[in-house]
Order: sequence, then structure tokens, then C-alpha cells
Amino acid sequence: MPLLQDALQDASVERLATGATWSEGPVWVPELDELWWSDIKGNRVLAWSARSEQVRVAVDGAEYANGHTRTRDGRLVQCSHGRRAIEELDLDGTTRTLVDRVGDVRLNSPNDLIEHSDGSIWFTDPNYGLTSPGEGYPGEEEYGGRYVFRFDRVTGEVRAVVTDLDQPNGLAFSPDESVLYVADSARSPGPIRAYDVRGDEVAPGRVVRMVEPGIPDGFRVDTEGRIWTSSADSVQVLDPDGTLLARVPVPETVSNVCFGGPDGTDLFVTATTSLYRIRTQARDAAAAG
Ligand code: MG
Repeated sequence: MPLLQDALQDASVERLATGATWSEGPVWVPELDELWWSDIKGNRVLAWSARSEQVRVAVDGAEYANGHTRTRDGRLVQCSHGRRAIEELDLDGTTRTLVDRVGDVRLNSPNDLIEHSDGSIWFTDPNYGLTSPGEGYPGEEEYGGRYVFRFDRVTGEVRAVVTDLDQPNGLAFSPDESVLYVADSARSPGPIRAYDVRGDEVAPGRVVRMVEPGIPDGFRVDTEGRIWTSSADSVQVLDPDGTLLARVPVPETVSNVCFGGPDGTDLFVTATTSLYRIRTQARDAAAAG
């Protein structure tokens, strides 16, 4: 594994944009050379252009969108607190619901999502959109839990894969997809847990690291298997056994990160009111698949 100094080209943090209320869910949109992210409490999706270095509102009235990802067939998909759904998002703001129910009842408020190389979408479903003022609409937890689900886009099956977390939040696969990592953001410090993947299910999990200060919210895994996680005061880089390799201070509470930019090595950081960038030489494991 290369030394982290090789992965972190420049540990300085640049603020690219500010003025949001609660920033989350970053995703790189290569067609537009834009970084899109959710301003959850502003109920909009914002876009920062790498060409103009300006920000525009990409989606207004976004139904409290949260996490985003790109599928291998080029679709932009997102979590909607307001619609309690996973949905496709077109670049003109049009949405199509992929899944909003498990059995006959509604999901809670999907928070973050990833695609497996088999095309299934794995997502977390804590209750923040039902309970946190300004992050959705008050409502009931209808299936009686807060799970991680696997959604099969071909068959439509929704399967609960992780059921032992209080508030499942960020998630990512290891580079070979043999391990699913999930953050539990219920209390501080909070764990990132690892679950061995067995087909479309997972084995019982283990704690990789208790992240502090604050909580682990969103995170990504790079091609070397390192975990780039949010925390209250920094982006923290962990090796797969949980050892802290590096810490890059950020002036606001970090909610999530994603790799992007022209060659995929810029780490974009959503943190409360702002969007930041850290130059690295690392790439997202999922993007390399
Ligand atoms: Mg989150």
C-alpha cells in the first residue's frame, strides 16, 4: 500500500463555496464538470462548476435530497427524505422513484447510497428526515427499524441486509466488494462497522474504528482500501484495520466526502455551510470498478 503522503498531494483545504444551510451528499457530475451536493435544510441541490468556479441551484424544492451516487450505467441516483425514497435524478431536475417501500410500508428517510457492481443499490435508512426539524417531514417509522437495504433494480426486491445499527448513515464497499462498511451516527463517538459480504447478504459485523470527535457520517473508500471519513473537525483517513493514517482539519463539521474532479483525485468535502476541496492522489474504489 503506498504511503499516505503519496495519496495526499496537498493536505490544505480550499473552500470552494459557502452559503448553504446543511451540506451533504456530494457527487461529481462529469458531463458538466460540476460537483453537485445537497443543501438539505435549504431543500435544494447545489452545483459548483469546475469551469466557472461559480455555484448555481441545480434543483430547487428538492424534497430534502441527501446522499447521491452515480451508477455504472451513468445514472445519477439520490436519497430523498421528503419522498422517503431512492430515486433517479436527471440533470434537468426530473426524478423517478426507484423504491420507497419495503413490503407494504414506507421507508424512513434514506440517507446515503452506493451501487454494487452487480447493479444493486445498497442504502441506509435512519430516521433523521422524520425527526430532525427542517430535514424532511415529521412521520412514523413504519417497518419498525432503521436498516441498511439492498435494492435489486432488476427484480425490484428490497432486502434488509444490516439490522443491528441505531442510525445507519454513510456506507461503502471495500475495493473487491468483500466488505461492506457502514457508519452508525446515533451517538459520539460513533463506529464505522465492517460486514463481510456473502452474496446478497452480510455476516455479523465488527467495529473498524470509533470515530471522534463527533460522529462518522458519510465516507468513501479508495482503490487502496483506505477509508476517507467525515468527523466533527476533520477528514480522517483510516486503513482497513481502523488505524488512523491522517487527519486533515476542516473549519466546519464534516458531513460527507466524494472523489471527483477532472481525474477523479480531488476529494470534495461537504461541511455545514460550505463545500471544500482537498487535492489527493487517491481515487474512489467504486469508480475504478
Ligand atoms: Mg449522511
